[in-house]
Amino acid sequence: MPVVHVVVLAGGVGGARFLSGLRAAVGANDRITAIVNTGDDLTLHGLRICPDLDTVMYTLGGGIDSERGWGRIGETWTVMAELAAYDAEPDWFSLGDRDLATHLIRTRMLDAGFSLSAVTAALCTRWQPGIILLPMSNQRVETHVVVDTGDGVRAIHFQEWWVRHRAELPAREFVQVGVSDAQPAAGVLEALTGADVLLLAPSNPVVSIDTILGVPGLRDAVHNCPAPVVGLSPIVGGAPVRGMADKCLPAVGVPTSAEGVARHYGARHDGGVLDGWLVHSDDTADVPGVRVNAVPLLMTDPAATAAMATAALTLAEECRRSA
Ligand code: GDP
Ligand code: CA
Repeated sequence: MPVVHVVVLAGGVGGARFLSGLRAAVGANDRITAIVNTGDDLTLHGLRICPDLDTVMYTLGGGIDSERGWGRIGETWTVMAELAAYDAEPDWFSLGDRDLATHLIRTRMLDAGFSLSAVTAALCTRWQPGIILLPMSNQRVETHVVVDTGDGVRAIHFQEWWVRHRAELPAREFVQVGVSDAQPAAGVLEALTGADVLLLAPSNPVVSIDTILGVPGLRDAVHNCPAPVVGLSPIVGGAPVRGMADKCLPAVGVPTSAEGVARHYGARHDGGVLDGWLVHSDDTADVPGVRVNAVPLLMTDPAATAAMATAALTLAEECRRSA
């Protein structure tokens, strides 16, 4: 059997769960590369934190708290309590004791001049995720959200909007601060040109997938890649399965529906990125030029998630044959 190289664009929790299903679904010799959103990254208490990369790394490495979907299993919160005793700001972002070790090592390596790609690879020697994990970019590209606070319009870091305000301040716009100076990280363009299949995980379309595609050169590389491109809908029955993607889509004028998201990504022959789109069993999507299949898309357990991944690979094969 030839080795198949599957490349996935992924955010945090939705991306990580999907990748674990995909890892179970592919053949033993096949290769998976995940290109992960870093627009959620932030610096807190002097430490560099990459929530989506860590969620993927911990999930695939068996270290995730699977109830919460993020952070370490068996976590304790002593340092956070001590910071609170000093009234240290910001106090709205949870930092667990175990998790802190990851951020300490990452920050030390970045300060010593290593790239985020190199740091991620180093952290993965412990976690052995079984896939190649790449940040979308080694430059800082941080998503900010333009909100109306009541006292005026201002831009706040995505995490402040998402975690502190629970996405309750209506978003007017998402801005990728630093993006014009960013480049795809080492290995990203090579993965896209060498892919046999390219999948868009059922991740947040606005603040995960669009953020990745916003890195200069990346959208073109996806548009032009030789492999079929198949996306999985994060919207089921008109709502996100978990999280608050419905708070993001209106800001970019996209209806919260499987069809709305697919039209937003666009058909490849129309300048977009999709050849195929998977929607949940009872959903429909009419997107000219995009082949649509409907299968169960709820990642309720490893078998269901692996079946979703298999359906995505099957749809990719159908797209390839009909091309
Ligand atoms: P985040 O970075 O942690 O927000 O994670 P992602 O961007 O990777 O994924 C968030 C998206 O995953 C949300 O929009 C959810 O709707 C979607 N999602 C989570 N669980 C499921 C699931 O079981 N099925 C589908 N289809 N989507 C899911
Ligand atoms: Ca995220």
